[in-house]
Amino acid sequence: MSVADGPMGDGVRVIAIDGPAGSGKSTVARQLAERLGLEYLDTGAMYRSVAFAAMAREVDLADSDAIVEIARNSDIHIDDTSVVVDGVDATTQIRGPEVTRSVSTVAAISGVREVLRVRQRAWAVERGGGVLEGRDIGTVVFPDAELKVYLSASAAVRAERRAGEVSALDYETVAADLAARDAADSTRQHDPLTQAPDAVHIDTTDLTVDQVVDELIARLG
Ligand code: C5P
Repeated sequence: MSVADGPMGDGVRVIAIDGPAGSGKSTVARQLAERLGLEYLDTGAMYRSVAFAAMAREVDLADSDAIVEIARNSDIHIDDTSVVVDGVDATTQIRGPEVTRSVSTVAAISGVREVLRVRQRAWAVERGGGVLEGRDIGTVVFPDAELKVYLSASAAVRAERRAGEVSALDYETVAADLAARDAADSTRQHDPLTQAPDAVHIDTTDLTVDQVVDELIARLG
């Protein structure tokens, strides 16, 4: 077993942030990481990168074995400003409608989740910790995280936030895509989106990013 498969070693400080799309995870995770002097990982970008690689190689999304192989072999580099998949700058495309509509199918494959889970743990162990955001960080990837956070917001506000980011799509389309993705992510068999029993739940509907980050810093003591 590699170190990345095992429990966290001493000195690994992990903050886990989960929640549905548009709940404010990325913005909050980024700012929290900056204030704590930790690095930040958007695990959704990893699932999106696998979907992007599968589409680039014209692999049928129903072919689970082939998709797991892609998750295992593709070269994914994610930093604060860019995402590079197999040497191709995919920063914009991983956020586009095609990847957004297929990513939940890819994320439902247990073999894909296993591969990415190992990478996510390794990422944090290599850095002595970090702020990770996604759907299963506090429940599956780092159940022993120092702080687990579950962010939510009303469906209307989440769709408004996403529509503001993706200017090519109208509000109705974004709202429908979001509802479909929420349903797929929350009802899938493997590691569905769910709040860890010991997670701090914050409804961000009427809160600013600063208010949420201040609350989390206060929780850390
Ligand atoms: O966070 P984002 O909306 O970019 O995530 C894209 C998709 O990746 C989610 O809809 C979900 O299907 C998947 N995902 C996941 N587990 C994570 C992060 C993302 O299944 N930890």
